[in-house]
This record gives sequence, C-alpha cells and structure tokens, in this order.
Amino acid sequence: MNVRDSEHMIAELNREEPYTLTEELREADLIIINTCSVREKPVSRLFSEIGIFNKHKKKSAKIGVAGCTASHLGKEIIKRAPSVDFVLGARNISKINEVVAKKHAVEIDINYDDSSYAFGEYRTNPFKAMVNISMGCDKSCTFCIVPATRGDEVSIPSELIVQEIQKSVDAGAKEVMLLGQNVNNYGKHFTSEEDACNFTQLLQKISKIDGLERIRFTSPHPLHMDDEFLQEFASNPKICKQIHVPLQSGSSSLLKEMKRGYSKEWFLDRCAKIRNLCPEATISTDIIVGFPGESDEDFEDTMDVLEQVRFEQLFSFKYSPRPHTKAAEFDNQIEKEVASERLTRLQSRHTEILDDIMDAQMDKEHMVYFDELKAEGRVSGRSDDGKLFFVHGSEELLGKIVKVKVNKTSRGALEGTVCA
Ligand code: SAH
Repeated sequence: MNVRDSEHMIAELNREEPYTLTEELREADLIIINTCSVREKPVSRLFSEIGIFNKHKKKSAKIGVAGCTASHLGKEIIKRAPSVDFVLGARNISKINEVVAKKHAVEIDINYDDSSYAFGEYRTNPFKAMVNISMGCDKSCTFCIVPATRGDEVSIPSELIVQEIQKSVDAGAKEVMLLGQNVNNYGKHFTSEEDACNFTQLLQKISKIDGLERIRFTSPHPLHMDDEFLQEFASNPKICKQIHVPLQSGSSSLLKEMKRGYSKEWFLDRCAKIRNLCPEATISTDIIVGFPGESDEDFEDTMDVLEQVRFEQLFSFKYSPRPHTKAAEFDNQIEKEVASERLTRLQSRHTEILDDIMDAQMDKEHMVYFDELKAEGRVSGRSDDGKLFFVHGSEELLGKIVKVKVNKTSRGALEGTVCA
C-alpha cells in the first residue's frame, strides 16, 4: 500500500511539475520519506534518515515526511527535525502539491475522504498495476496502529476501480493487485451514493475487463472469508491462486484479546476449505509472537496451526507496543527474550516446511507472468500461485505469460527454462 501511495504522490506532483526520479541524493530537489508505523523500528529509523538526507542534500532541496508515521507524529516531526519542510499523512496524499508549496505545512487529517478522488497516473512497473479498493480500516485489533493513522474504512466506488484498472491494462498490464486493509470487507462503507457491491461482486466485475488476465489482492481478513467469496476465489480463472490469510495467533483466547473476531477453529476451517476447493492454491500468513499474555500453550497453538496449514509464506513479527493501541496498555507484556525465542522457533520450523514445499517444485511446470528485467540477462516473474521465478531471457518476455519448467529450486525463488 505504501508503494502505491508513493506512486500516487509522484503522479500528483507531475500534474504541477515534471519531476523525474533520481538515485542520486545530491541531485534531488525534493526528498520524500514515505513511512510505515506498524512496528517501532521504522519509526526510530526515520529521524536518523532525515539527518543523513539533510547532511548530503542540495541546499535548496526540500524534505517531506509522508505516510503513517507522518499521520501519527504530525508536527512533532518538524519540532524534532526542523530540516523537515512538510508532513503529509497517509490519508492526505491528494494534497501533496499544497504542502510542497507551503513552508512547514502539516496535513494529517485521518478522516479526510479521498475515496472518489481520481489520482493522476504513474506506475513504477507498467506490467503490474496496483489499485486501491478501500482506504482506512474498520477493525480495532488491539495491537494495530493502522486505524489511528489511516482512519475509518471507506470503500472506493467500483466504477472508479474498474476505470483505473482499464487504464493500466491499456498501458500494458495483464495483472492487477487490489489493495486495502481488509479487501474482502469491500462495499460496507461507501461515502457516495453507490449500488450495493461486495468484494465477490467486485471481483466478478473486474474479471470482465478485456485484456486483464490476472487478479491478486491483499490483505483479506479471515473473518470475512465466507463461502461465497472462497467459491469465487476457487472458480474464477482470472483470480490468482494465492491467498493471504493473516493468522496473528493460533490461540483462540489470544485472538479474543487481539479482537480479531475469529477463533483458531474458524481459521483452520477456512484454510481447510481453501485447500479443499482449490488444492493448487498457496496460503501465506502473518503471525505475531509475544503478544501480551501469550503463554507457552498459546504459542503451541500457533505452532499447531503452522503444522496443520503448512503456509507457503510466513511474515512473522515480534509484538511491538504501539501508541494509540489498547494492547500497549496491557500489564502482562512478554519479556523480549521469550518473544525472541518463540520467533526463532517459529521461523526455523517454517523454513523446514518451506524447503520441503520448494524442493517438491523440481521439474514442475508453471505459467509465469514476466514483469521485471534483472541483471545478467535474467527476467523475473510470478507463477499464478505467487512463486517467484527467474529465467534467462530478454525484455521480449516482459508482459507475457509463458510456461516455464523448474530446473533449480531454492527457499525464496525458482529457476527454470521457458517451454517451447
Ligand atoms: N490490515 C492488515 C494488517 C496490516 S499490518 C491485515 O489485517 O492483514 C501488517 C502486519 O503487521 C499485521 O498483519 C501484523 O501481523 C503485523 N503487525 C501489526 N501491528 C503489529 C504490532 N504492534 N507488533 C507486531 N506486528 C504487528
């Protein structure tokens, strides 16, 4: 979502002035740091980065801080780092030209409604389109700062979404990644007069776009994975067979403390349903270890879900107490060492599972959509089920979906040869 937000900033800036991107800090007239605030680490890095940029930048160059940390720290950023020229919240991107023009402007209203705003066009990669379908979040997970930085959930009108995808298809994209904090909650919060349209219906509408061949989305919420949605996921040939099902914890009592709205049993049932309806689908997840009050038994529940579902991809984090969240106030915080041990155990076991999964890919054939030129005459792309592929080839492969046979496996990616 942050990558797409950055593209929106560039597009909006380009409406006023023809900016180009530079890798050279000294050449830049404008430096924007687009920030995350989900965990503490990136926030603490922000101020050291500002210092480095300020030291090496052109004298006249402006520095702006955007994104979720901008939303939650606001003018505090300029107080701590006066070299910052403006602060632009995650929910205020359409105002970028206004804040660039004003010294020390701070725009961080999290209730600002951009949902019907047609952003300018800019894509880092013309073959892969990212398209927002909603803004903000309507959940109140006790660990999560996102509702405080991105505001309430608002669904973007489906017409606007279809239009934007059509534009990207006309420009060469065959694949779209739909973005939202809870994509499958789509349609609950329109702010303009709209015909009812839930996520399943949105997927059906999008599938009708000629020339669009692949649809991906992130992140869906396990709570909203009803049968209708899973049926559509399994049966719609344009929907890529890769699904993110963020677990957070395998313990039903901890899930309650987290206010996730589902139990271990519901989660396992949904994953079993996915495996059953669509055996070729890959499932990825997010897990937090060391959430306040996590007992050994709670953690064993998480390990148990890992064993049962055998996720193809795992994003795992040590719990990080965040401002504006309920869990940061809980008085049963877990010791860092315990959380670290659990994270290591979880990740090591997942690595073993992943090695088995990837080793079994040898000699398999996949349809791969190539979208990036790499060094040393290689091209990369993804299979329908989301596996990263590298083959020897040239730009001729870009934007094409071709059959590839795996001839080398590793944990993170597969190598192969294009089938004749
Ligand atoms: N709305 C998305 C979450 C975006 S944040 C979703 O529900 O999937 C991405 C991930 O960061 C979360 O899924 C969670 O695993 C992790 N995360 C969020 N807050 C955290 C915190 N306080 N400490 C550690 N990890 C956290």
